[in-house]
Amino acid sequence: MSEFTVVNPASEEIVAAVARTTAGETDAAIERAVIAQAAWRAVAPADRAGLLRAFAGAVDAHIEELAGLEVAGAGHPVGQARWEAGQVRDVLTYYSAAPERACGRQIPVAGGLDVTFAEPIGVVGLIVPWNFPMPILSWGMAPALAAGNTVIAKPAEMTPLTAIRIGELALEAGIPDGVFQVLPGKGSVVGQRLVDHPAVGKIVFTGSTEVGREIMAGCARRVKRVTLELGGKSANIVFADADLERAAATAPQAAFDNAGQDCCSRSRILVQRSVLEKFMELLEPAVKAVTVGDPASAATQMGPLISAAHRDRVASYVPDGAPVAFRGTAPDGPGHWYPPTVLAPVRMDDPAYTEEVFGPVVTVTPFEDEAAAVALANDTPYGLSGSIWTRDVGRAIRVARAVETGNLSVNSHSSVRYSTPFGGFKQSGLGRELGPDALDAFTEVKNVFIATEG
Ligand code: NAP
Ligand code: MG
Repeated sequence: MSEFTVVNPASEEIVAAVARTTAGETDAAIERAVIAQAAWRAVAPADRAGLLRAFAGAVDAHIEELAGLEVAGAGHPVGQARWEAGQVRDVLTYYSAAPERACGRQIPVAGGLDVTFAEPIGVVGLIVPWNFPMPILSWGMAPALAAGNTVIAKPAEMTPLTAIRIGELALEAGIPDGVFQVLPGKGSVVGQRLVDHPAVGKIVFTGSTEVGREIMAGCARRVKRVTLELGGKSANIVFADADLERAAATAPQAAFDNAGQDCCSRSRILVQRSVLEKFMELLEPAVKAVTVGDPASAATQMGPLISAAHRDRVASYVPDGAPVAFRGTAPDGPGHWYPPTVLAPVRMDDPAYTEEVFGPVVTVTPFEDEAAAVALANDTPYGLSGSIWTRDVGRAIRVARAVETGNLSVNSHSSVRYSTPFGGFKQSGLGRELGPDALDAFTEVKNVFIATEG
């Protein structure tokens, strides 16, 4: 049997060996999911809600265990990992209210009664990346289940442990067999089978834009429904009238959160030229103060990168002679470490400025005025997130409307909230997750006309 070895990215010690699901086993799981779906959609709304709340309760009772798995298997700092496990509970709780609120509409027509129903799609395939294994799993899983679909999740090969445990907790909480299955294994095998299999009605994919394009093409062959959350190269725009101390103090966290392995990373800092020097003076101590080290320590802010190969890829964006303005620290010895790094001034065609690095590397670029800031922010194929720092309310609103991106924060770097919609413009994705309308992406609208005239 083929196995994948999960390695602790901080110590390079072996954590676990996980069997890879085969294409045949994937087909069998899809068949189980089809059978389970017929029963799951028929569970009374209040009972489906109760089961989702029980599932949330089971996750809540295992926050420490789940966080520990993410510390060991993905190198996430323990404080962050606890938040991530808590997010799974919160997303399940939020969408547990949905089954009893899945209202249709009654539309006035002549000669009868016209009503709409939100019908589940059927079996949903959820392809999850390694950067946020728990939150991203929950964003697809919870609303899909609430809508009456069954779900097959394919965690990233490198980070399967928390998804596997969450799958066990679902069963312990009473979610029926076959309703939520977790299939660890390769994207090219399990993920591809989910995309190709005719009985899977919808794919939710989070990962690289490159693979996302192929997933979309694969889904097109069967007109399969698809939601894509892809890469980003988001701007953190700092105007001269901003609270510069706060903007500089928070910029490292916005770029280096999860060691920069975050599709929402504000990896391009754009600063109005008149305050560039002052901003850099304030940024340097903030970058040097980032605590990089043992993920199991509560004081750690930044852990290692996921793998040696990924560390090498990140390092390739900072070759010898790169314009390193200053950088933070990183431990020596075992582990896939890379220090927080600030590049300035960068050329506009430098790959570190144009491409998603997915590591703790941020660029700083000056701009002259508001129009130039917006033009720079939009000069990318991506459009996922971003931040705007200014004390001028009118400017904050103008710039927020002009930046082509799905999620913006003003005078903050808010992370994803489960109660608000999340997703990308342009090549950052297709569709939205989370928020009050998430079930729309997991249902089909059915219109029924009932004649009242004989
Ligand atoms: P990736 O290749 O896009 O992988 C994401 C998920 O898709 C994984 O579960 C992967 O499985 C699966 N997959 C890969 N090929 C597939 C296929 N042909 N059919 C179906 N599923 C498939 O991302 P990555 O290689 O982990 O990371 C590469 C880069 O993508 C990163 O450096 C970063 O720039 C970007 N990225 C973005 C996000 C985001 O949140 N937007 C997340 C992760 C990565 P395996 O486990 O076999 O790889
Ligand atoms: Mg890949």
